[in-house]
Amino acid sequence: MPLPAALTTALRSLHLPFEEDAPLARRTWWRVGGPADALVTVSTAGQLAAVQRLARDHGCPLMVLGNGSNVLIADSGVRGIVLRLVDELSQSTAEDDLLKVGGGLRLPVLLARAEKQGWPGLEALAGIPGTVGGAIRMNAGTSLGEIGDLLESVEVVLPDGSIQTLSPADLHLGYRTCVLPPGAIVSSATLRLRGDAAASNELIRTFLERRKATQPLDMPSCGSTFRNPPGDAAGRLIEASGLKGLRIGGAVVSEKHANFLLNTGEATAEDLRALVERVRQLVAERQGVRLHPEVLLAGDWGRPGWDADT
Ligand SMILES: Cc1cc2nc3c(=O)[nH]c(=O)nc-3n(C[C@H](O)[C@H](O)[C@H](O)COP(=O)(O)OP(=O)(O)OC[C@H]3O[C@@H](n4cnc5c(N)ncnc54)[C@H](O)[C@@H]3O)c2cc1C
Repeated sequence: MPLPAALTTALRSLHLPFEEDAPLARRTWWRVGGPADALVTVSTAGQLAAVQRLARDHGCPLMVLGNGSNVLIADSGVRGIVLRLVDELSQSTAEDDLLKVGGGLRLPVLLARAEKQGWPGLEALAGIPGTVGGAIRMNAGTSLGEIGDLLESVEVVLPDGSIQTLSPADLHLGYRTCVLPPGAIVSSATLRLRGDAAASNELIRTFLERRKATQPLDMPSCGSTFRNPPGDAAGRLIEASGLKGLRIGGAVVSEKHANFLLNTGEATAEDLRALVERVRQLVAERQGVRLHPEVLLAGDWGRPGWDADT
């Protein structure tokens, strides 16, 4: 659906990379979902603020896409503007034991730089394919910790274009949860580097080897689909319900790790959503546990989100 002409003209006057009816599936790890009305790429916090102000002034919806590793985008796509953060917004600079990282920086790139530069203490981010902004939004982490443990401060740009610096306490971080102000986009964060680089690298190496052996990393997924319920593992509950290999259309429950739902190649977003909902329903029936998706729905689904429909 085209954006209003006045907004398109205003966006074009910013001279930013701007694509209409832009395919998003290839920008997501599940490789599904329809196009964005407009995909705008911003390189600086100033550009980010300018686009946010324009969207707000024109009443146009806006979402930021990180590395697309935790979103299920609807087949009908995303109305309004989708933002990508690059260049200055994906840099990293270290000063003593503080590391400033851009919201658009991909964690695997950060970890590769850390290994080269000898930056310690980032092992909690190993194996997570998201960006810094997406990781903060999700308080992403593993058995080695979570990004919230590393945060000194977070800089966000608000819908009115103002910039705010938040402390970790402001974010009310929990297990895969973080509360950002409405419409806030993480432009950068400052992490504290702790510990010994050689020890961090060794931890990361063993951790990634274990992941490779236990997770189906050769097929499109969003990693763990469901959060682990307190004291249990979603994968164990799905497996105990006999759901490994369960298939809807081109979407299937992994045989290797039951909390991974895979796109076998032809899945639609509807297939994946239907499979998430079916797994949820069957685990509730067979194990008496209601699982909560960790993956977020995005775009124009035409019906309510996860919690309202099961
Ligand atoms: C193979 C695989 C393994 C994974 N392993 C793990 C794991 O071990 N631990 C874990 O926690 N997760 C894991 N994930 C899930 C995923 O990588 C994380 O949730 C990650 O933090 C998502 O980041 P993203 O940049 O891809 O966000 P996206 O999926 O692009 O977006 C997720 C949400 O964050 C918002 N967002 C993105 N950028 C910003 C920003 N700059 N400011 C504000 N909001 C923003 C988006 O609007 C969206 O609402 C895995 C995924 C895959 C595919």
